[in-house]
Amino acid sequence: MILVLDDKITKEAKDKINRVLSEEKCIHREITDAGRTVIGVIGKTRTSLEAFKQMEGVAEARLIKTAHKLVSREFKSDNTQVKINQAVIGADRIVLVAGPCAVESLDQAMTIAREVKKYGAVLFRGGAYKPRSSPYSFQGLEEEGLKILAQVREETGLGVVTEITSVSQADLMMKYVDAVQIGARNMQNFELLKCVGRMGMPVVLKRGLASTIQEWLMSAEYIMAEGNDHIILCERGIRTFEPYTRNTLDLSAIPVLRQLTHLPIIIDPSHATGIREKVSPMARAAVAAGADALMIEVHHDPDNALSDGPQSLYPEQFGQLARDIYVIAPVVGKQLDFDYLKKSEVINGFGAKESKTAAFIGEYGAYSHKASLGYFGDEITPVPMKTFRDIFNAVRGGSCQYGVVPLENSLSGSIHENYDLLQEYDLKIIGEVTIRVKHALIAHENVSKGDIRKILGPPPALSQCRNYLDQYPDIETVTATSTSSAVRQVKESGDRQAAAIGSTMAAEIFGMTILEESIEDNPRNYTRFAVIAKEKIGHKKVGKTSIIFSTGNKPGALFEVMKVFSEYEINLVKLESRPMLGKPWEYMFYADLEADLGHPDLAPVMDRLKEKSENLRILGRY
Ligand code: PEP
Ligand code: MN
Repeated sequence: MILVLDDKITKEAKDKINRVLSEEKCIHREITDAGRTVIGVIGKTRTSLEAFKQMEGVAEARLIKTAHKLVSREFKSDNTQVKINQAVIGADRIVLVAGPCAVESLDQAMTIAREVKKYGAVLFRGGAYKPRSSPYSFQGLEEEGLKILAQVREETGLGVVTEITSVSQADLMMKYVDAVQIGARNMQNFELLKCVGRMGMPVVLKRGLASTIQEWLMSAEYIMAEGNDHIILCERGIRTFEPYTRNTLDLSAIPVLRQLTHLPIIIDPSHATGIREKVSPMARAAVAAGADALMIEVHHDPDNALSDGPQSLYPEQFGQLARDIYVIAPVVGKQLDFDYLKKSEVINGFGAKESKTAAFIGEYGAYSHKASLGYFGDEITPVPMKTFRDIFNAVRGGSCQYGVVPLENSLSGSIHENYDLLQEYDLKIIGEVTIRVKHALIAHENVSKGDIRKILGPPPALSQCRNYLDQYPDIETVTATSTSSAVRQVKESGDRQAAAIGSTMAAEIFGMTILEESIEDNPRNYTRFAVIAKEKIGHKKVGKTSIIFSTGNKPGALFEVMKVFSEYEINLVKLESRPMLGKPWEYMFYADLEADLGHPDLAPVMDRLKEKSENLRILGRY
C-alpha cells in the first residue's frame, strides 16, 4: 500500500500514522517522490485501506498492484540515482565502469585502471572472489585483491566495485570497496541479498542467467526491504538457444524496467556477448536504448588474462567506444563527461551544496536547465534567471559560481546576445555542453489534440516547429519568453484549449501531459552552451580555445589572422563577427579553435596573433 501524505500535514498527524504503522508490525518506508512525502507499506495490515484514507494528513492511499513493491514505479515515480564515490548512476551523465574480469596483481590492476580512467571511466571494477564454473579455474586473489582495489582508488580516484560471493565477506567489502556486485549466479541467493541490504552500500545486482525480469525485480526487492535502495540493475545477457554469443543481451529489458521500476540500469555487454568484437556494438546500442551506465571488461594483455580474456577490450578499443558514446548520448538526452572526476573533485572542494550554483535562463524545465544538469549533474544547484545579462552579472558578482548560456543552435543559428556579453564581461568559458532540443507538445491531462486552439512557445521554438504548426492553420500561436514559461503559463491558466512547446522535462516538472513528442521539423536540432565562470575548474586536457579579437580596417586584415591558423595547422571550428560596442561599422571576431592556445608550445602562435590582430583576448580554454 502507498500512503501519500498531505503537503501541510502536522507533526502530530504524522506521528500518529507512524505509530499505527509500527503497531501493525509491517515494513514501512518513507521517501520523497515528485516533491511529496510517500510511505510505502508492505504486508497485510489490520487497518483497512479505507481507514488509512480517512486518517488526518493522508492525501491518498492506494494498493501497489505489482508483486515487487518498494522497487516499483508505483511506489516511486522519480528515477532513483545511486552515488558510488563521485559517480551518480541514473542521472544525465552516462557512467562508464571498466576494468578486468579479475584483479590479478597490483601492477595489472593499476595499469588497466590508469588506462580506463584516461578514456573516461569513473568507476573501476575487478573481481577478487571469482565465481567460476570450474573449481579448477582461477578463483581470485580474495582479500589481497580487495586491498589492491583500495589502492587503485587511492591512487587514481576511481571508485571501486567488486563481486561479493558470500555473506562472510561483508566486513571486508565494507572496509575496502565502494560498491558490491551480486553476480548472475547469486541473483537468488536470498541470504546474500538480505546481507547486502543490511550493508547499505551500493549494489550492482546482475540478472540471473535464466531469470525473468520479475524474478530479478523480486531479488532487488529483497535488498530494498532491508532498507537499502542503492541498487543498480545490471543486464548481462540471458541464456537462450543461440550459441553464437555467450549469452543473449536482452536490451528490451531497458524499456521494460523503465516502466516497472525507478532503479537505474547498467548494461554489461562483455558477459552478454563473450566476444571482444561484439562488445562495442552492443554497448552503443545499450546507450541508445536508454542505459544509465555501461560495465565493460578491459585488459591490457587479454591473451594472458586469468579470466574472460576473449571478451575483454583493449584499452584503445575502450577509448574508441567512449568517443562513440560521447556522440550518441545527447541523442537520447544524456551526456558522456570526460571531465567527470576532476569536476566533482573541484566542485566538492568548495563550500556547502547551497553555495554551489549555476545560473541558467528561463525556468526549471528549460533546455538551459537540462544543459546545466548535463554538465554538472546534481552536484550544483541550478538557479533560474530572467535574462542573459542577469546570468553574467550573477557570475561576475559572485552570487553564482557558474553560468550556462546558449551560444548557437544547429537550426536557428547563433545567439548573438551572448557573444556580445562575452565580449563585454571579463569572464572565462570553462566548458561547453551540447544538448539535443527535442520539442514536445504539452497540455493538461486528458486533453486531446483536437481540443487545442492555441499553442504557446518562444520564437525559436515556434520556428523550429514551423512545419508541424503549419498543419494546423486554425491554431493561434502565442509567443512566450521561454519553453518552460510557456508550459507554466498553460498550467497556471488552467486553459484546456491551450498547449505549450517545451521539453519532456518541463512537462514532468509541471505535472503536465505530453500530447506529442518530437515535433521539431528537423531532428538534428542541437544547442551548444558555454559554461562561464570567473576561474577555470578541473585540469582537463584542453582541446579547444575561444578567443575574441579585432583587426585594423585595412584590406586583408582578417586574412592575415587566418593565415596564422593555417600556417600552424590549427583547425578553426567557428568564426563569428559581432559589431564592436559603441564603434559603428567596426567588428570583433569570435573564434573557436581546436588547440590549446595557452600551451607554452603554442606561444609563437599567440605572438603572431597579437601582431596581426588588435584587442586579442582568450575567452576560455576547455
Ligand atoms: C563478472 O562480472 O565478472 C561475472 C562473473 O559476471 P556474471 O555474474 O554476470 O557472470
Ligand atoms: Mn568476467
